[in-house]
Amino acid sequence: ASGYTLLRDPHHNKGLAFSAQERDAHYLRGLLPPAVLSQELQEKKLMHNLRQYKVPLQRYMAMMDLQERNERLFYKLLIDNVEELLPVVYTPTVGEACQKYGSIFRRPQGLYISLKEKGKILEVLKNWPERSIQVIVVTDGERILGLGDLGCQGMGIPVGKLSLYTALGGLRPSACLPVTIDVGTNNEQLLNDEFYIGLKQKRATGQEYAELLQEFMTAVKQNYGEKVLIQFEDFANHNAFELLSKYSSTHLVFNDDIQGTASVVLAGVIAALKLIGGSLADQTFLFLGAGEAGTGIADLIALEMSKQTKLPIEETRKKIWLVDSKGLIVSSRKESLQHFKKPWAHEHEPVKGLLDAVKAIKPTMLMGTSGVGKTFTKEVIEAMASFNEKPVIFALSNPTSQSECTAEEAYTWSEGRAIFASGSPFDPVEYNGKVFLPGQGNNAYIFPGLGLGLIISGAIRVRDEMLLAASEALAAQVTQENFEKGLIYPPFSNIRKISAHIAAKVAAKAYDLGLASRLPRPKDLVSYAESCMYSPVYRSYR
Ligand code: NAP
Ligand code: MN
Repeated sequence: ASGYTLLRDPHHNKGLAFSAQERDAHYLRGLLPPAVLSQELQEKKLMHNLRQYKVPLQRYMAMMDLQERNERLFYKLLIDNVEELLPVVYTPTVGEACQKYGSIFRRPQGLYISLKEKGKILEVLKNWPERSIQVIVVTDGERILGLGDLGCQGMGIPVGKLSLYTALGGLRPSACLPVTIDVGTNNEQLLNDEFYIGLKQKRATGQEYAELLQEFMTAVKQNYGEKVLIQFEDFANHNAFELLSKYSSTHLVFNDDIQGTASVVLAGVIAALKLIGGSLADQTFLFLGAGEAGTGIADLIALEMSKQTKLPIEETRKKIWLVDSKGLIVSSRKESLQHFKKPWAHEHEPVKGLLDAVKAIKPTMLMGTSGVGKTFTKEVIEAMASFNEKPVIFALSNPTSQSECTAEEAYTWSEGRAIFASGSPFDPVEYNGKVFLPGQGNNAYIFPGLGLGLIISGAIRVRDEMLLAASEALAAQVTQENFEKGLIYPPFSNIRKISAHIAAKVAAKAYDLGLASRLPRPKDLVSYAESCMYSPVYRSYR
């Protein structure tokens, strides 16, 4: 492209950063005002503009506009200001963007595959302008964050996740493909909205649903080969578990809600052991919430315990208890249990509420994964603090309004003894003259590095051992200085370095398991991972 079209090509446009020579060589004279700005100055100006917006959604829209205008500048901003901009391009703001996607929609940013495309999905994939795709994030919009069924408007999620793959994990933007599968929606409000952008019908289920997904999975492998990573995102749990188990033996698939959450929480648990002492197998866990997040985390903890102790996983699972909407999951329960809960139905008399479960089980670590806010009450935290010197509390439900308790409540009710981390960010808390920094168990610590590790090794399958490797790599990045402030996660400002370390460990595991196809194996995987990372710095066009 040159001249006018060059300025409208987001992959190559540099705006006022085109030099005098470039303006001559590419027919840009007169199409730009005379000033030449450096990328740094453009960045400074845009950050200034962005901070003028007080409404988060306006910041989100400004960022999306930038992505469509000047891709490298968009990523430069995101990388250099990650702590400030993560909540803008991803949760919580992306949730609001999805809710209003119909009205803020300007230009499609990914592929829409609906029931109307049945039988033609391969052709649809070929309509996408990029040929060499490395990562696909796909949703069917049924469980967007904690917001429920947003149908076709869920597209904001794959778009946002993939921008993090690039910014935090260094995957090339052109290698990332956001996909939304539209099988209808059960959201009445959307069905009655004349401006709704998706199919106006109830969700297809059963065979019709399975066939569309099957055609999609087959077409992806046929079009992009075996090494393309397919990340399932924000599917409702009945489909999420099934899709993952169905395709994990034939495709390179990963479910962030189940596996990414598990890996990031396990990392926090491993790091927390440094603060409370003892080994993983010495701990007893109690979960409130036994869905994708809860059982996913429980599975990975049990696996790590089994690996460390050499005990069979059936034994280590006994250290982990879960409570769902009906109470403690126990073997004597009459109603049939969903298959993902069955491994957790241990011998115990029935217990109804969380407080009674806490008193009965006496966990050392309490995890909130129910999506219901304010459930870790004063009594619950006090009970935890009564039999633990340092009770470990994970309040993982998102967004902030759904958090099981606030950071301040956890520290205050435990008299400053809690080790606390949450799903949504909380500000530092001062208690009795001491400042506590709550950690955020954000999946964005794990999936970009994990994805990078899979891609650079040419892995063809995801294995739980790779998730364990990612957790250990993340936990190893927490410094003494972080621990002293009570932190069990490292600061996000170092995320690219963290991702490189995670990628290296994941790639090493892929090689060890014989699942890597990129040969020979690089000697220094950390520096190899770093060398593969996308840089947003402008290139010169001479
Ligand atoms: P899910 O699959 O729908 O599971 C929710 C679970 O909570 C179910 O087992 C449900 O019980 C249980 N539950 C609901 N209301 C309850 C109540 N009042 N008392 C006790 N249990 C109750 O949802 P999910 O995907 O696991 O997500 C759960 C939450 O975790 C969401 O808020 C999400 O934002 C958060 N999350 C956080 C992170 C993170 O921080 N990194 C990552 C992923 C998810 P039944 O089975 O009996 O219905
Ligand atoms: Mn998700």
